[in-house]
Amino acid sequence: MATGTRIEPTIQIQSSLAELARATGCAGKPKKKLVRRASPDRSQVVRHGFQVAFLLLNIWIGGEFYLWVRDYEAGVAPHFSRPAGVDGWLPISGLMNLKYWALTGRVPSVHPAALFLLLAFLGIAFLLRKAFCSWLCPVGTLSESLWRLGRKVLRRNIEFPRWLDLPLRGLKYLLLGFFVWAVAAMPAAEIRGFMHTPFGLIADVKLLDFFRTIGETGLIVIGVLVVGSLFVKNLWCRYLCPYGGLLGIVSFFSPAAIRRDPERCIDCAKCAKACPSRISVDRVLAVHSVECTACMECVAVCPAEGALGISLAQLPGARRRSRYLPAWAVALAVAMLLFGIVGYAKLSGHWKTDVPSAIYQQIVPNANQATHPMP
Ligand code: SF4
Ligand code: SF4
Repeated sequence: MATGTRIEPTIQIQSSLAELARATGCAGKPKKKLVRRASPDRSQVVRHGFQVAFLLLNIWIGGEFYLWVRDYEAGVAPHFSRPAGVDGWLPISGLMNLKYWALTGRVPSVHPAALFLLLAFLGIAFLLRKAFCSWLCPVGTLSESLWRLGRKVLRRNIEFPRWLDLPLRGLKYLLLGFFVWAVAAMPAAEIRGFMHTPFGLIADVKLLDFFRTIGETGLIVIGVLVVGSLFVKNLWCRYLCPYGGLLGIVSFFSPAAIRRDPERCIDCAKCAKACPSRISVDRVLAVHSVECTACMECVAVCPAEGALGISLAQLPGARRRSRYLPAWAVALAVAMLLFGIVGYAKLSGHWKTDVPSAIYQQIVPNANQATHPMP
């Protein structure tokens, strides 16, 4: 019969497909049903808002500081007071002050804001992984803008192969190790002495002068980093930033992590593809990588309701469904830690460097003579 001759080949094809599925290990893996998200993700709008606000704040601080320096150089009374926030650009001073504070219990009088800002950023790293890098750091913001621009223009970014990526990622820890080793070798009295040398007092002015009088080598290095950042995602942050390395180590002990619910996940791998840190988010239940910056890009692209989110701790069973933190809660936690610690420092009178204007009058115009005291 005509019907019989048409059905037979179909049965054969089906059984061959079943055999192929068994042979490739795909048998018995039912396709999961996608339950679409009820509302669109807003995490990136909130995060980018934070990045822009913090970048503008840094431009404001930098501008005010520049005018403060210029007034001293011109020999006139400064129109502004020194913005203490500029200490945030002195991570080594922050590290030294942290050690001094830990050893003596006293808040240092020179660049104390470097200590409080470092504490705030370490606190953020402990609570919310490297959120400082993707929510606040102006260098991180510029890095991100560059690779996004590069991807737009060139249609793709370059990814180094794993065998090269891994050792390159180790460079930032080497740099961090060098700074930690240098600070570890200094007793408290030596740190205090260093901070009160002309170089220590105006380490911020020296940093400004580095950029104002940058030489050919410095320009080439910055140029290579800028151009390279167009091609490679977060070139500086991923491979070279010792500050990010330190925050990454602290973040390893964080209870917060991006967590995936395997029952709701449909294994589309969009999260892994979107992750700027190249983390295989779709293959793990929780992201404990020291490279995770809590940027929530993976969460933003996930199409499945409740499949992916950031949470402070794993809750068992059905309670897993309500465990994720909304982006506004992450933003609030970052802001509270930062402004809480800065607010405490201000209210307790420890925020500003305790250096008389007469000292600055002497050393700021002669900053080129303030050389590093160490051999
Ligand atoms: S895992 Fe998610 S939050 Fe972490 S870096 Fe990757 S995209 Fe960002
Ligand atoms: S984006 Fe990731 S977590 Fe979300 S459904 Fe796809 S694989 Fe699962």
